[in-house]
Amino acid sequence: MTAAYDDLLAHVRETHLLAATAALLAWDQETGMPPGAGDVRARQLALLARLQHERATDPRVADWLAACEADPRVAADPERAANVRELRRDHERNTRLPQRLVEELAATESRAQQAWAEARAASDFAAFRPWLERMVALQQQKADCLRRGPMPRWDALADLYEPGMCAAELRQLFAPLRERLVALRHRLAAGRAPKVALGRVPIDEARQEQFVRAVLAAMGFDFGRGRLDRSAHPFCTSTGGDVRLTTRFHRDNVLDALGSTMHEGGHGLYEQGLDPDALGTPLGEPVSLGIHESQSRLWENHVGRSAAFWTWCWPIAQQHLGNACDGLDAAAVFAECNAVEPSLIRVEADEATYDLHVMVRFEVEQELLAGALPVADLPARWNALYRDYLGVEVPDDRRGCLQDVHWSCGLFGYFPTYTLGNLFAAQFAAAADRALGGLEPLLRRGDFAPLRAWLREHVHRHGRRFRPAELCQRATGAPLSAAPFLAHLERKLGAVYGL
Ligand code: ZN
Repeated sequence: MTAAYDDLLAHVRETHLLAATAALLAWDQETGMPPGAGDVRARQLALLARLQHERATDPRVADWLAACEADPRVAADPERAANVRELRRDHERNTRLPQRLVEELAATESRAQQAWAEARAASDFAAFRPWLERMVALQQQKADCLRRGPMPRWDALADLYEPGMCAAELRQLFAPLRERLVALRHRLAAGRAPKVALGRVPIDEARQEQFVRAVLAAMGFDFGRGRLDRSAHPFCTSTGGDVRLTTRFHRDNVLDALGSTMHEGGHGLYEQGLDPDALGTPLGEPVSLGIHESQSRLWENHVGRSAAFWTWCWPIAQQHLGNACDGLDAAAVFAECNAVEPSLIRVEADEATYDLHVMVRFEVEQELLAGALPVADLPARWNALYRDYLGVEVPDDRRGCLQDVHWSCGLFGYFPTYTLGNLFAAQFAAAADRALGGLEPLLRRGDFAPLRAWLREHVHRHGRRFRPAELCQRATGAPLSAAPFLAHLERKLGAVYGL
């Protein structure tokens, strides 16, 4: 048949086993590893990373790819053609950066992250500034290695996380979105704000855990191929056959535990919905961070923050949370989940203001990479944008431009994938709503299987077969737009705030 293709696939499947093993060790590091094992674990992970890199840049990969690309039988088979197209993309990414730059980036990231943590704790931007200057310079070099022709540097970096996305297209999506979100923020300020109730009642963590596990099981998360544990920052990781989720519990905030669990559960359902026969190949991998985030946001916000969901969920909450539910009802908790309050911290933001935080970062990092904004001027620029977009005064850099770890880790071009996730989620939810004859009656009776099946059919099972833009067009019949997201927010929040 096609020996080069078979050899190439066997090679990448084995490399994936190394990656999955590293993921399992990283999961263990966050969930159960005793503190004394840290040094050995770092050496284990470094070895696995080196072995993966060696395999990915093995000269035979280039030969196999060239042979596949010259083989008409591969081109005639859509699955094989898609795998080869994506493996070519991975190979270019892995070989375009000179080893010297890769090593310098890794060393700088590790030290910049420590410097960032100390600077944030002390709210001392001046201490982080030289590290950020160094990091911006390295990211500019990285972008110059990756980009083709006149492509802006920001685009070359963003393409690592969201294939095919570029700043020009994002500006077109974001400009009207920002206007409408700012207008919505002003309108809601005049409405009737929901009361905080369930989210402030102290509840035993064991009860909270029973509750969120019941919801995760109802969503259809397969505990036969996955686990739920605890960590300081919730995450989802696939270990190549099973899916590890984490959540967190605060004694006086069960809604945070529920939101985190449903969010990570959405990521987990995507991973569990990938084609198991394609495991270790591009067709068995998630397509982009934006699409991944759409799956978490869909379950967290379109399901978990809907009135219909709370109609179903309320008796389950009462069963597990006991007295904490006294004097409350489903309608009150639904409203509480949808309170909007412009704030300083992105990760604590509500559904209506979250994307304004992202847009601040999108503006600032384009300016940094283009050399238009000196790093020294970052705090002033950041604070001005927060005043403009969110209407809040930033009191210090700890709660301002030092709040996120991303730039210290070298993640430039990454933030917009969070907003893309929100936009894709709303467009998928609207398409599923039409296809299933209305989601509301299904959610009201806790029948999540049809929604899960729709997502599996139209998003999960394709892996990287289609780029995000094409996946969206095929699944929803339209290119990505902010309209479904705005319609969802304005309809729901208008009702909650009595407007
Ligand atoms: Zn997420």
